[in-house]
Amino acid sequence: MKQSVKLIAGNWKMHGLTASLAEAQALQDAIKAQSVTCRVALCPPATLLDRMRSTLVGGKVELGGQDCHDKPQGAFTGSVSAEMLTDAGATLVILGHSERRAGFGETDADVAAKVEAAIAAGLEPIVCVGETLEQREAGDAVAVVSAQVAGSLPDSLSERDFAVAYEPVWAIGTGLTPTLEQIAEVHAAIRSAIIARLGQGTAKTPILYGGSVKPDNAADILATAEVGGALVGGASLKADDFLKIIRAA
Ligand code: PGA
Repeated sequence: MKQSVKLIAGNWKMHGLTASLAEAQALQDAIKAQSVTCRVALCPPATLLDRMRSTLVGGKVELGGQDCHDKPQGAFTGSVSAEMLTDAGATLVILGHSERRAGFGETDADVAAKVEAAIAAGLEPIVCVGETLEQREAGDAVAVVSAQVAGSLPDSLSERDFAVAYEPVWAIGTGLTPTLEQIAEVHAAIRSAIIARLGQGTAKTPILYGGSVKPDNAADILATAEVGGALVGGASLKADDFLKIIRAA
């Protein structure tokens, strides 16, 4: 199990053409030149995975996908399977991101099926949960997130490496973040929900925080109780910014 060190994962979303490989290379070179003790992953668009694997050969940066289908192959036009991500060099995959839940109608059951597929393909899933602003303002953040954890984690995870990412929907790409107390409260609830779902063996499963993580707030967030790393969107696109976040871990 790899759970003891922090995991800093970059989610490039639908950003990144071949030219972006230079940022990945710069990141890898900087990491090699320093003693970085955390795990670092980049999750680029699927089209870049294979080339990124060739670019980053021999380095410390792990690669991840941003989604996968729940079937290994078949007549699913436009989809990419977990096996295909593995084949292209990924060892992790982000699943259940709120942009998938909101924009593509993914339910907890859909996410759980994708997690099963990822596990079967040997990938380490990063399962995302998070409340909307409306849900937070109604005082429902902990209940919503706990229910998402219970519904999105299949039994097969209990013996596997995986991570959960707490990403409040209202904090993604907005520059807004919860207070450190709010992050600690939700992360504690997520820890309880994971253990209730999968048992004490998951007491050290990393719980990442995501949503407007930047170089200037990363150290405080990463020092908060039960924060086992970060899932970083916008600030992972430039090697300099991402490196500052990695150093804060
Ligand atoms: P952000 O995105 O860091 O740009 O807010 C985080 C995410 O959506 O994973």
